[in-house]
Amino acid sequence: MIYFSTNKSSVPVSIKQATLHGLAPDGGLYIPSEMPRFSNAELKLLEGASFNNIAFAIARKFVGTEIPPDRLEEIIENCCNFDTPLKRLDDGTFVEELFCGPTLAFKDYGARFLARLTGYFAQEEQRLITVLVATSGDTGSAVAFGFQGVANTRVVLLYPSGKVSPLQEQQLTTVGGNVHALEVRGDFDDCQRMVKQAFVDPLLNESLTLTSANSINISRLIPQSFYYAWAAMHLRDAFGLREPVFSVPSGNYGNLTAGVMAKMIGFPIGHFIAASNANDSVTRYLEDGRYDPHPTITTLSTAMDVGNPSNFARLRYFFGNDHAAMGREISGISVSDEETTATIRSVYDRFGYVMDPHTAVGFRALERYRADAGSSATPGIVLSTAHPSKFIETIKETLQMEIDIPERLRSLLEKKKQATLISSDYRDLASYLNNLDQ
Ligand SMILES: *Cc1c(COP(=O)(O)O)cnc(C)c1O
Repeated sequence: MIYFSTNKSSVPVSIKQATLHGLAPDGGLYIPSEMPRFSNAELKLLEGASFNNIAFAIARKFVGTEIPPDRLEEIIENCCNFDTPLKRLDDGTFVEELFCGPTLAFKDYGARFLARLTGYFAQEEQRLITVLVATSGDTGSAVAFGFQGVANTRVVLLYPSGKVSPLQEQQLTTVGGNVHALEVRGDFDDCQRMVKQAFVDPLLNESLTLTSANSINISRLIPQSFYYAWAAMHLRDAFGLREPVFSVPSGNYGNLTAGVMAKMIGFPIGHFIAASNANDSVTRYLEDGRYDPHPTITTLSTAMDVGNPSNFARLRYFFGNDHAAMGREISGISVSDEETTATIRSVYDRFGYVMDPHTAVGFRALERYRADAGSSATPGIVLSTAHPSKFIETIKETLQMEIDIPERLRSLLEKKKQATLISSDYRDLASYLNNLDQ
């Protein structure tokens, strides 16, 4: 399988290079030169298949022969070692819970697969790979837990001191082992600037192999197509329901892009809803074809507060830059904070189900989509991107009640923070990296 850049001026690369480099040298995003396809016979063989069997079949198409099948199977078993429950709220409405991984958010799927592919290729190259990430919270913790204990890799995370939530800080600083947390006396922009400088520092790059793990990496997207494919198959096999519409709470649009890929390769998916909060650049594009990103607005669904989504270039490429073509597959719906809290309340009242603010945006968008279509006959799956206990303050305030905190989160809160405090001067980061034990 060959990957080329959406900007079309970089040389095509293998999955190994696309994984280890993330971004193409021309600034574009890597996509498969030809989208793999499952034939009807292949899909038939996957009827009733387990999540991991479907995941393996998809991964093989995207990875090709570059990783032997038995090793790839191991990677899948290792990566997808937690449940993906599909909860039925009413006849045709489901919530797919993507928050059963170690950090209680869907980013675990992408980070765990990327980590294992990076580890595999690092071993093949006989190199130690250093993953350098600036984080304001969620991505960093998924990356930290994803790479935890993966041989031939280590992670250095930079986060702004005092500017992440106490829970996020615990997630970033208690992994230990091959994961190193740097608490930077500065803001997120400082962290990002320092990381960028490290990537272009010739001296540093002579002694270290640096890579990033951000959400534009194709190996973070591939595993996110697994849960679309499995849910669409399972809905048909177990409930006799066909071609669901997926409502996807979106920020950088990586998740939605992975869904579109699952449909392009042949899985039985009807339609997509791009559910956004007040950050509605894509919703507006879908209306009039003008892409005019606005500055980021802070909302209750913080992980979706993105003014200029990084994966949008890939999505546009898939639809040949044609907003009408994209609109036939994707409906954009923007949901306000008032609607979000009202939805958390009404879903709890109607179904006794507690959803986090991001999931509530997705649920509300599905309701509005059905109202616009004048029908609720189409089966709908809302992707639940985070466990409600990650946003416990909003839930407490909205529902006026306490909720259970899962054991794996509670035990995390008791662990001891391990972080190195550094200034926002790049030289501090360079000297830290140069002195890091192998
Ligand atoms: C990252 C994130 C999103 C947005 O996902 P994208 O792939 O960036 O669109 C939604 N919900 C939660 C909880 C997240 O952490």
